Amino acid sequence: MAEFDYDVLVIGAGPGGYVAAIRAAQLGLKTACVESRATLGGTCLNVGCIPSKALLHGSELFEEAHDGTLAKFGVKTGKVEIDVAALQAEKAGAVKGLTGGIEFLFKKNKIDWLKGLGTFKDAHTVEVAGKAYTAKNVVIATGSSVTPLPGVDVDNDKGVIVDSTGALALPAVPKKMVVIGGGVIGLELGSVWRRLGADVTVVEFLDQLLPGMDGDVRKEAARIFKKQGMELKLGTKVTGATVKGKKATLTLEPAAGGDAETLEADCVLVAIGRRPNTEGLGLENIGLEPNQRGQIETGHDFRTRVDGVWAIGDVIPGPMLAHKAEDEGIAVAENIAGQIGIVNHAVIPSVVYTTPEFAGVGLTEEAAKERGPVKVGKFPMMANSRAKTNGEPEGFVKIIADAETDRVLGVWAIASVAGTMIAQAAQAMEFGALSEDIAYTCHAHPTHSEAIKEAAMAVRGKPIHI
Ligand code: FAD
Ligand code: NAD
Repeated sequence: MAEFDYDVLVIGAGPGGYVAAIRAAQLGLKTACVESRATLGGTCLNVGCIPSKALLHGSELFEEAHDGTLAKFGVKTGKVEIDVAALQAEKAGAVKGLTGGIEFLFKKNKIDWLKGLGTFKDAHTVEVAGKAYTAKNVVIATGSSVTPLPGVDVDNDKGVIVDSTGALALPAVPKKMVVIGGGVIGLELGSVWRRLGADVTVVEFLDQLLPGMDGDVRKEAARIFKKQGMELKLGTKVTGATVKGKKATLTLEPAAGGDAETLEADCVLVAIGRRPNTEGLGLENIGLEPNQRGQIETGHDFRTRVDGVWAIGDVIPGPMLAHKAEDEGIAVAENIAGQIGIVNHAVIPSVVYTTPEFAGVGLTEEAAKERGPVKVGKFPMMANSRAKTNGEPEGFVKIIADAETDRVLGVWAIASVAGTMIAQAAQAMEFGALSEDIAYTCHAHPTHSEAIKEAAMAVRGKPIHI
């Protein structure tokens, strides 16, 4: 009889966990995945990346239809209205299709889905729904949840103060929405409801939006979102909220201290970050303590300090991104199978899926300058023929290269399709490209991506179209 029930038992079926399970099974390991949610796919497929993109896409179509964009290109429409129930149904269909797809992949790869909450009894035993399962290797991929804001209590059922999950499920367009947190979620979901007709105010503690992104990008983001009609209250903190019936009243103060003011809203979205899920996992039973930020620390091979226990995704340090979790899922399975699984954490692209999109990979100019002299090339989308023709003039591409070696250290883009454009920058950086390599790579014309080539040419001061 086998010593363990499984070679690999993964706790959590988000993009980290389900990918780890599939790769482990592909490598011939007997694999199970524990998931307490009713469907597979984790935050990403159920209440994150996928449903938010469905609403973003629907709201973009609505905006194009009623703000004159379609008319400008000769497309005549009648009266344009938004049917929120139909949009929500479309979103639900996308989620159902994709989560069902993961269930199909589990069956195809003979992965057992153990339904329920997983709790460690010891390093090789996990209890699920009252039954103990043993495994030679256990991968913690439990992801993250919304960080609560003291004094501002979320109640998604009531729909007045909501988190991202509630904001993805609103049955109607709020008249006045206040978003607490000018990060990725606040700007994506704030954009959805603004496009559909809400009057949106974003309250951000810091003096700029989008922490972690390049300084020029953050400055430009504030200009663009203001121009789109969002009110921005930067350098401001929310100190409390009261709800009466269907209205919330927030108390705000300048982050640096000063007079308080109040703000009323029909809907308040709390989006101040996410925190790792480790509660209830029984980490105390295996002597594994999270760090001060609640994360599980690992080596670069994703081993924790406890033999046979590994961890990946949002629950470990690093950006909380689905593609980072997926790559770590592949790497951890390969390491468990005795292969060499590596993730280059210096080259993880990040994208904000607003209109335009904001994307970046590698170092910001500020961080690069701390390491030594740099050369920067910048090219405006206004001078890119395709963007100009499509009526998408906002944004730029910025390339930061080492002044001495010309090696590309970071690439930042604001463009309608920046999220797609950034892939070539990530690949170039993964191959150790110089800015000259990108400048002398032939790019198809007319494409938005030509702006990356031109920004690379600008590193040496020689772009053609400006
Ligand atoms: P998760 O996806 O959180 O999955 C963990 C799973 O583990 C969950 O299903 C949970 O139910 C389960 N679980 C937890 N504890 C236990 C337990 N003890 N037993 C059993 N099961 C357990 N990232 C992007 O890259 N692009 C985007 O566009 C994007 N959009 C987002 C939009 C929103 C609104 C949100 C909230 C997030 C978004 N993210 C996006 C972030 C992305 O969703 C996460 O980075 C990603 O899902 C992390 O994957 P994970 O596998 O580590 O964890
Ligand atoms: P975030 O960290 O992106 O932004 C939170 C913002 O809230 C920050 O700007 C922070 O300064 C601000 N803040 C914190 N406390 C505050 C307070 N009391 N008052 C006002 N502002 C305050 O977090 P998020 O937007 O909640 O997103 C969570 C995670 O989900 C992110 O790490 C992100 O990586 C991931 N995500 C990614 C995508 C994407 O890749 N497109 C989309 C959504 C979410």
